Amino acid sequence: MSKLPSNARIVIVGGGVMGLFTAWECATRGETDIVILEQRKFLGAGATQKSAGGVRAQFTTAPNVMLSKYSQDFYRRRFAPEINPDFQYLEYGYLFFARSEEKLKALDNSLALQKKQGVDAVRRISPSEIREILPDLNISDVLGGNFSPEDGFVDPGDIVNGLDTSLRKFGVDIFTDCEVAGIDSISDFNFVVKTELGNISAEKILVATGSWSGEFMRKCGVKVPVDPYRRSLYISGPLPWFPKKSPFTFDICTGTHFRPESGGILFLKINPNEGPSHNEEPDWDWLEHIVPDLIHIMPRLEDAEIIDAWAGPYAMTPDHSPILGEIPASPSGVKKGIYIVTGFSGHGLMHAPASACAMSEYLLDLKTSTLDVSAYSLERYEKGELIEEAAVF
Ligand SMILES: Cc1cc2nc3c(=O)[nH]c(=O)nc-3n(C[C@H](O)[C@H](O)[C@H](O)COP(=O)(O)OP(=O)(O)OC[C@H]3O[C@@H](n4cnc5c(N)ncnc54)[C@H](O)[C@@H]3O)c2cc1C
Repeated sequence: MSKLPSNARIVIVGGGVMGLFTAWECATRGETDIVILEQRKFLGAGATQKSAGGVRAQFTTAPNVMLSKYSQDFYRRRFAPEINPDFQYLEYGYLFFARSEEKLKALDNSLALQKKQGVDAVRRISPSEIREILPDLNISDVLGGNFSPEDGFVDPGDIVNGLDTSLRKFGVDIFTDCEVAGIDSISDFNFVVKTELGNISAEKILVATGSWSGEFMRKCGVKVPVDPYRRSLYISGPLPWFPKKSPFTFDICTGTHFRPESGGILFLKINPNEGPSHNEEPDWDWLEHIVPDLIHIMPRLEDAEIIDAWAGPYAMTPDHSPILGEIPASPSGVKKGIYIVTGFSGHGLMHAPASACAMSEYLLDLKTSTLDVSAYSLERYEKGELIEEAAVF
């Protein structure tokens, strides 16, 4: 392994999709004096490689729809030609359906917001139209759904591999198995990043530590409200009758959701009673709470075999929206030049292109110009200007 350099213009802490994508944006603009430090053995080994790969514009707040629109366009048109020719954006859609008047009203509200924000493809569909998409779905108590054929899914492995290969071609230094212990602020735009492999002087730092961000920033004396929550994801055996090109489908009354994967399905449901932790063992006991939902939604799933499962951390914030921007400097604390991108609350893979674009502009220009992400500042929690996102599953 090569030796850690003694200095770099930009140090990125965290080799997940946010750190890698932001480095790529900087490198395409000519800034390659970048070091990425990842504590685990592999890039993307935090949440990124555990992701279900869903990409949607169906959010309930305008800023989150904005991040989605930019990112979806990037995945659809740019990722394959610019980063990885093997990458595919599988445009199979996202379907949210309701089985109560209250939830249908919530779908009315989100549909109106999305239309207002220019998500033209999303539309209300009836139970019988849902049956046309998924012939085996039990519509006996379904009142309606929102469907966008332009949403879809991606493979997180293709994203990490593509960014990794491209960054190495640009000459960006990447170190795995290298935990950052802390940051010393010397003066504005003058820091020492402390690691077990040695120290690096840096002008600017990007903290892209995902669900570790709360504890990492506490070491630097800064409160960042991000906590890790385990999410387990389960895979069924082959289901020859299940439509291979069907949408990511959400029963918004129970939160149970599923999509086609490797000839069967992949499915999840948040356990609302589980507290924060970095436990990454899949929760097999939680299955007994999901399987009855799945069988109600699609009775033919009764015979499905469950052949695999994994778990990873969601980086949850109090309003379920991310934190993007500069860490405010203070006379007794950190100096100017530390930026943060974190707290995606389960939506980071889909929001990575937009977030990386914004963070690269902060790092290179000290302000953003492509997207206005000022609403996502860390200070919003003190000011009480929350971006309360309801479409979190
Ligand atoms: C089961 C599951 C399903 C999901 N499904 C979806 C989905 O369908 N669509 C979607 O958009 N998102 C989904 N997500 C969320 C998505 O995976 C994350 O939002 C995204 O990967 C966050 O990227 P990140 O780079 O911020 O964090 P991470 O990928 O967690 O990367 C942060 C990295 O920082 C490293 N790190 C932390 N502290 C240090 C330190 N001190 N020194 C060095 N390195 C450090 C970690 O090891 C980690 O690799 C899912 C997540 C899970 C767990």
